[in-house]
Amino acid sequence: MIDFDKIREDVMEWPCSQVLEAQISLMDGSPLFDIEASSICNLECNFCPRSKIIRKNNFLDPDLFKVLCNWLPENAVVMFSGLGNPF
Ligand code: SF4
Repeated sequence: MIDFDKIREDVMEWPCSQVLEAQISLMDGSPLFDIEASSICNLECNFCPRSKIIRKNNFLDPDLFKVLCNWLPENAVVMFSGLGNPF
């Protein structure tokens, strides 16, 4: 199990130059794209800010998704997330 608190404590002790170096090495990796497939959700998780956001509930247009797929670089990492639940 990953001890995120320990990692956070360790990183807080790093000098700024080491933090910057780590951030730059992350940017050298595959670009990450976060795509929201839906803004609709039938759940009400208590930590979720959905109810405070005023916008149309909708699904990502499949044609727009095709355009996005053609536009994404080959090494892109796509994460489907956002404030909706397409399932
Ligand atoms: S969008 Fe995600 S976090 Fe928010 S209520 Fe739905 S499932 Fe929960």
